[in-house]
This record gives sequence, C-alpha cells and structure tokens, in this order.
Amino acid sequence: MKSLLLYGAHDARVVDVPEPEAGPGQVKIRVECAGICGSDLSLFEYSPIPSDFVHPLLCTQGPHALGHEFAGRVVAVGDGVDDLPTGTLVAIRPNVFDGTCAACSRGEVNLCENGGFIGVSGGGFSEYVVAGRDAAYPVPEELGAEVAAMIESTAVAWHAVKQSPASEGSSALVIGAGPVGLGLVACLKARGVSTIHVSEPSAARGRLAADMGAVVHDPTVDDVVARLNADGGVDVSFDASGVGQPTYDTALRALRPGGTSVVVAMFHDTVQVNLQEYMVSEKKLIGSMAYTADDFAEVIDAVTSGVLDPRPLITGRIVLDDVVSQGLEHLLGTGRNTEVKVLVSPGDVD
Ligand SMILES: [Zn+2]
Repeated sequence: MKSLLLYGAHDARVVDVPEPEAGPGQVKIRVECAGICGSDLSLFEYSPIPSDFVHPLLCTQGPHALGHEFAGRVVAVGDGVDDLPTGTLVAIRPNVFDGTCAACSRGEVNLCENGGFIGVSGGGFSEYVVAGRDAAYPVPEELGAEVAAMIESTAVAWHAVKQSPASEGSSALVIGAGPVGLGLVACLKARGVSTIHVSEPSAARGRLAADMGAVVHDPTVDDVVARLNADGGVDVSFDASGVGQPTYDTALRALRPGGTSVVVAMFHDTVQVNLQEYMVSEKKLIGSMAYTADDFAEVIDAVTSGVLDPRPLITGRIVLDDVVSQGLEHLLGTGRNTEVKVLVSPGDVD
C-alpha cells in the first residue's frame, strides 16, 4: 500500500509499504480522509525524531509515517473486537497512552509519561491504518469522512476551551486563525461565548474568521491591546499562533484583571515573562495539550447535534500522491497565509 514516510528534513516520500493487519483488540481501517496539521509541517521541516527511535507503546521506528488527523472505514477487526461492523465510518483518536502512569491515573491521558501519536511516530497519509479498538470512534454516516477527519484538530481546540474559564457571555481573544485558532472560534461559539476577537495578519484567514462571526483585527495595522482594553479587556485569551514574544505580550495584556491566557500553540522560542504583571493583576497563564478520550467523544456529539461545525476550516483537497508538493511544501510556501485545513484522500485504492 502507499504511505507517506519521513526520511529526513524536507525529505518525505510516498512509498510502497506492507499493508498492516489488525492484531487482537485492533481495527484496520481504509483511510478516506486525512488532514495536514502544523505539527506535520514541523516534522517535515525539522525531522526531529531519529529514525532509530522506537516508541515504547507504538513499537514503531523510522522512517516514520506522517498524518494523525484521519478517518476511514473499518475493513477488518482483530480478535476480541465484536462491536464495530465492517464499513463503519470511524474517526481515529491518534494519541496513545499507557493507562498506568501517574498522569493516566489522574485521568490526564493527554499528559501520559509514555504518550505518543499515531502519525508522528508510526500514519494517516496511508491507504490503511491499524489502531486499537478504543481509538476508533464511530461517526454518523451523514457527517461524512471529511468532517470525521476534522474531529482530531477540533478536539485540540475543544480541550483548550475546556481548560479555560470561558463560559456563556464571556469575551475572548484568539491569536492566530489557523486550524486550531478557527477551531477555537467554533468551540467558543458552541460554548455560548458572546464576543470573540481574532488577531490574524492574513486577510484570507481573517475573512474566514469573520464569516464565522468573529471580530477580526490585523495586528500589523491595529493596536489589538489598546482596542480591547478600551472595552475593559477580555476574559480569556488563546495563543494559537506560537509566534513568540509579540503574541505572548498581546495575549497577556489584552486580558482584563483576573483574566486567563491559554497557550495552545507550539512555541519554538522562549519568551520573557514579567511575573510582576501576574501578581498585580491576578491574571493566569495555563497550557493546553491535545485532548482526552472524553474530549474526542464530546466533539463528535457536538458536531452531530449541530452546535459545532468544523467545515468552514476546509480550504483544500488533494490526493495522497500529491501530499508533498501540493500539501507539505505548499503549506510551508505560498499556502502558509491562505490555507487553513488541507485534506488528503488516498485516491484510487487497489
Ligand atoms: Zn500514562
């Protein structure tokens, strides 16, 4: 079968690999749709995981298969799986955890000491994938494979909103209108947050945020902090951009006293933090990492009931053979400021 493997920085290839078979307790799915994530782009750009690294739970080693946001249909099940009929549309929760460490014992499986992700070390940009039964979540047929493939990135935003005190009537600032930022807009709306500001320099992404009901500011021309403080500051802010010092400063200073800022982006650089600002204002800074099994199920319920809709985030559709040129390289180049979520389908499967 075809699968995208990462051989090194800027060296990913769609190659022929053995088709995986479902072992006991596992399901085998034929992938129908997989989203390209910013972390796929980081892995492609920097290739930080050595090929000889063997993940303790996934037992996979390099060259690593990319793609962790994916959905497909069950084509086979292993021994002990009797509740997932062939043909069922499923979204895969790709994070794996040992279930036994201190974090897992607290229910914080997203913080597992041995945690990992299918498609970071082991992927969705393949024709078939095998995963544990507990990672396969049936998705109503009427939602379709594209929406099913959007569950994972939406769950990242869902978890971040749950980590925050945002509630009905709150005001929020989202910095960055990429897949997670626009996912935050959708999840904040689903939670009844009344005023959602978005800071985003890209006009194309800003238009999408505005179409979703956000008040959009261009930080290259607008003084976002002054503008929001004129109204007393926002209750919560989210940095979904990971830009660095400028966005950290905006996220903190746009808050009202006592407000909460949530970091939900990967920061490659350190930022300077003035603790005095926290003491005198009682502002809070919290992090949000991935999602739990509950978050994943809640997102599927919210999308099914119609309160949450990730479809406006889809800006491109390509086939697996073109995933490097029209996917990874495009998103690191001209697509950086225009695309949000590009979905990959395997195309014709033998
Ligand atoms: Zn654990």
